[in-house]
Amino acid sequence: MGDYVNRLMAQLVAKNPGEPEFHQAVQEVAESVELALARNPRYVDAKVFERTIEPERVVMFRVPWVDDRGDVQINRGFRVEMSSAIGPYKGGLRFHPTVYLGLLKFLAFEQVFKNALTTLPMGAGKGGADFDPKGKSEGEVMRFCQSFMTELQRHIGQFTDVPAGDIGVGGREIGYLFGQYKRIRNEFTGVLTGKGLNWGGSLIRPEATGYGAVYFAEEMLKTRDESLEDKTCLVSGAGNVAQYTVEKLLDLGAKPVTLSDSGGFIYDKDGIDREKLAWVMDLKERRRGRIMQYAEQYPHATFTPVDPSRSTNPMWSIPAEAAFPSATHNEITDEDAGNLLDNGVYIVGEGANMPTEPLGVERFVDAKILYGPGKAANAGGVAVSGLEMAQNSERRSWTRETVDERLHTIMVAIHTNCRETADEYSVSGNYVHGSNIAGFRKVADAMLAQGVV
Ligand code: NAP
Repeated sequence: MGDYVNRLMAQLVAKNPGEPEFHQAVQEVAESVELALARNPRYVDAKVFERTIEPERVVMFRVPWVDDRGDVQINRGFRVEMSSAIGPYKGGLRFHPTVYLGLLKFLAFEQVFKNALTTLPMGAGKGGADFDPKGKSEGEVMRFCQSFMTELQRHIGQFTDVPAGDIGVGGREIGYLFGQYKRIRNEFTGVLTGKGLNWGGSLIRPEATGYGAVYFAEEMLKTRDESLEDKTCLVSGAGNVAQYTVEKLLDLGAKPVTLSDSGGFIYDKDGIDREKLAWVMDLKERRRGRIMQYAEQYPHATFTPVDPSRSTNPMWSIPAEAAFPSATHNEITDEDAGNLLDNGVYIVGEGANMPTEPLGVERFVDAKILYGPGKAANAGGVAVSGLEMAQNSERRSWTRETVDERLHTIMVAIHTNCRETADEYSVSGNYVHGSNIAGFRKVADAMLAQGVV
């Protein structure tokens, strides 16, 4: 690690104590950006990277609501507006008990580079609350969303900041949030993405992150004249990203064999086929059940509960060729990464944000496998959010084929950009450096053009 990164990290940690995920995300990007700074002193003089790690604005607010028993509950809401260098702030909302400022700063920071890679004009933000939708009634979720938006609506707008979903925020929550925005502001605009199809949403938005991650993996494989056909794939998570990753893997003839949630994972040796996937989608989206029920429905499959005393997840030791971590950050430890490599995995497409711990990333890079980091591989979701904004501005809806084709074109372009940038910096095949530097240069050049703001 160079002096620049050491100094920067010491300052960052001192100024942002107790935010390990934010430190982790900045360190990874800084190690790549150091290569770009060495070639362009203007970035150094204008302190472009130092500005990028300081959010343009952070809003933190009280979210009071009344539960079904009539008791008052209080949650904490946030919006981190990280960068508006290339467009309005854009990024999801997360409702999960682990949400705190440092987690959202990490996600907003990653979003800066991801959004720059999409080829679309989008800045970066992230928000959410430490609210857990699990186990809450429909009425409680609605009242929470309404209270959250009562404050958030002052800070967002179609030209200012356009939130979307993330963990714990799906179509249902976006509906309640949009309804309250419209009621307070008396305007029907594209202020949120991930909307329902008959009220301004885009076809393919629910599918976009999972489909995009698979398209990206397919592009990586093409560089070795291979494809995903017949490859055994480990998928974690059972939410939005995981479900549509499995769907696209099936489209391309691959064999997904695992899914998980915070309770544990299921392993279906025979493969998760379309009928089983439809059952999972209904379980998660309508019945709001747990993935362990899969093994009750399909008894040949096994369920392994999470064992908090273990430092590894046995799911990542199942023999396979590809892995698509699609649940949450740091779900692949250093040891897990070793187990994946030992058991045959040579393609990793990160559907989740920062799912691999730094030492695990190092292992993948050193092993020269096809490793697609989240900010490139999962950019399909925000890309189609950008296409939803475009359709809202036009007051038109594009067909499924049009949106899917544009998503595919964008994922191919991201892959090419990462690959060519890595070549340019003499780190061929390293998608970590490729994505970080390509994303950074676009934002940095815009910042130079706009002066010290
Ligand atoms: P989701 O629909 O809420 O699903 C999340 C899944 O991950 C659930 O199965 C959940 O299990 C599991 N999970 C969440 N936190 C966990 C934890 N701490 N430990 C174990 N399992 C956990 O969310 P999603 O939209 O699919 O997002 C998944 C990942 O993709 C996140 O990293 C997100 O930031 C990233 N991402 C999402 C999008 C998008 O368009 N949605 C775009 C880019 C990146 P439980 O239900 O048991 O909690």
